[in-house]
Amino acid sequence: MKRVAYAFAFVVCPLAVALTYGQQKTAESAPRSQSGLELSAIDRSADPCTDFYQYACGAWVANNPIPPDRSRWGRFDELQDHNNEILRKVLDAAAASPSGDNQKIGDYYASCMDESAINAKGVAPLAPLFSKIDAVKSAADLAPVVAALHTLQVNVLFGFGSEADFKDASLQMAIADQGGMGLPERDYYLRTDDKSAALRTQYVAHVGKMLALAGAPPDQAAGAAQKVMAIETALAKGALDVTTRRDPTKVYHKLTPPELQALTPQFQWQKYFEGIGAPPIYALNVTEPDFFKAMGQLLASTPIDDLKTYLRWQLIHSSAVILPAAFVNENFAFYGKALTGAQELRPRWKRCVQYTNGDLGEALGQAFVKDAFGPEAKADTLKMVHEIESALDKDIQSLSWMTPKTKEEALVKLHAVSDKIGYPDKWRDYSALTIVRGDALGNSERANAFEFHRQLAKIGKPTDKTEWEMTPPTVNAYYNPLENNINFPAGILQPPFYNAKNDPAVNYGAAGAVVGHELTHGFDDQGRQFDSRGNLKDWWTPQDASAFTERAQCFVNEYSNFTAVDDLKLNGKLTLGENTADNGGLRLALMAYMATTATKPATLDGFTPEQRFFLGFGQIWCEHSRPEIARMLAQTDPHSPGKARVNGVVSNMPEFAKAFSCKADAPMVRQTQCRVW
Ligand SMILES: [Zn+2]
Repeated sequence: MKRVAYAFAFVVCPLAVALTYGQQKTAESAPRSQSGLELSAIDRSADPCTDFYQYACGAWVANNPIPPDRSRWGRFDELQDHNNEILRKVLDAAAASPSGDNQKIGDYYASCMDESAINAKGVAPLAPLFSKIDAVKSAADLAPVVAALHTLQVNVLFGFGSEADFKDASLQMAIADQGGMGLPERDYYLRTDDKSAALRTQYVAHVGKMLALAGAPPDQAAGAAQKVMAIETALAKGALDVTTRRDPTKVYHKLTPPELQALTPQFQWQKYFEGIGAPPIYALNVTEPDFFKAMGQLLASTPIDDLKTYLRWQLIHSSAVILPAAFVNENFAFYGKALTGAQELRPRWKRCVQYTNGDLGEALGQAFVKDAFGPEAKADTLKMVHEIESALDKDIQSLSWMTPKTKEEALVKLHAVSDKIGYPDKWRDYSALTIVRGDALGNSERANAFEFHRQLAKIGKPTDKTEWEMTPPTVNAYYNPLENNINFPAGILQPPFYNAKNDPAVNYGAAGAVVGHELTHGFDDQGRQFDSRGNLKDWWTPQDASAFTERAQCFVNEYSNFTAVDDLKLNGKLTLGENTADNGGLRLALMAYMATTATKPATLDGFTPEQRFFLGFGQIWCEHSRPEIARMLAQTDPHSPGKARVNGVVSNMPEFAKAFSCKADAPMVRQTQCRVW
């Protein structure tokens, strides 16, 4: 549930960030338009050439206030809610008569829903782990305890798992990464502005309250929280920021275990490896050696009692959402309210659906696919994917800025992309995972351990490219640069992204843009550093690489001028890959649409085919956000907010200006139009 498998930020390029907090109500169904566009979303008083986002989405935003239990509300959330309603029915039925294939999801969900049983147990289920922490006498004893916590995916101090070797992506290797922080990102500990300082004060208060809830004497809890903050700040100082971590060369350092031991003499790595039950490790990616040096120094210079307090906090924090109500509420008060601006906790069933999906997603997903994703949708999507791939083929061949040698390499990479649509061919086998009715925390811990061991078992083995990193009901998509594949879960191949009944212009503008986005990731500033087999290998001539960088800089400049909230601008470098994918993706989708033989009625709902295409695109990004989360996302999320994703792209396209007859000096016609792909 709560903690997803240890995720490495640079591994996959999702379409949008997944938010844990907030949730919504069911969308009202308006009468269907001829094209499938959401006519009631359009603000007819706005001028599409002045602010296309306002035109496409203005009425939707005005008529769909952010629900109190959400920090952001948009079309993605609306659809995820719809998908969750389907999952709820499946889970209610499974919980009522758990048997056979449905025993695990039924008992997991029922246990999560049984709040009174959870409240009655208090923190007793954590007692064995608290005792392990209490028994630590010195820093030298830490490794086995850290191993026990990591097995439950309580990522104290650092993160550990498996990942394809960047230089030989056909093989999996062990990876040790920065981690151990409770705030979203290292700069949260280091920024000096008033808002950041105030948030840190709230965070320390939150840590103190959680420690007190778990039994720390109230007069000591506040002081203990300060010690936790000092430890996490020291880890942050050794860590890289989110923007730097997008550069694969900055997070790949292949070391042997003795080399890692030399970096961190204060930590007994061999005992750690034994503790987690790792297979033999001959080399591992120590993403950031300086982080591990800093961690070692921290272990040497911090009193052991403070380190034990830190471990206790991280354990409580990681388990909070499945502990008694007091913990859930205090966790929400900081992570839901203070950090993201949500006003109310989500209803319990919504949280339990999410946790079941997180822990048993490929068991639950089978029922979702049966209900919501037929062979026709799969065949249709695949056809569109192939058309968009051939659009990129034509685009690469016609580029003015790329030399023939690099073009040849780019085409090799494009032709090697594999397409994964809907759901895995082979479902994950959960038979080794025990789910017990009435043991919500135990179920969560066993699921976390199951996933952690599943990841460790890959070390030294060939990469399995058929595996999915998202569950079928997920409203998202991703490109994996280490596998060179694009992945579209069944959850996103639904209205408003795709509908068999839609005018094709709308489907190409919406689902087509999503497909184009993921495909372009293989060729953005990050993806272009990997070759057709997923290896980190430079296949660009220096001349072409510098032409790319020059063109990409145009996006950096463009998006750095968008305001996220108040006086905070978007980070054009952090969002470069996503913005490149958005721009390339829509252009490819348009090329594919223009090339299809599908009927293109001259007018539908009063719009031309090109207008319907751009509106179909614009309307998937209708959303609004509370200021708290807008700030958090601008500081951590590589994706731009909806308005920038729409206006930032269309203002770069002469085809858009033509479709809406915009004048040359209109705000939606940028004087310097950026284009890479
Ligand atoms: Zn993306």
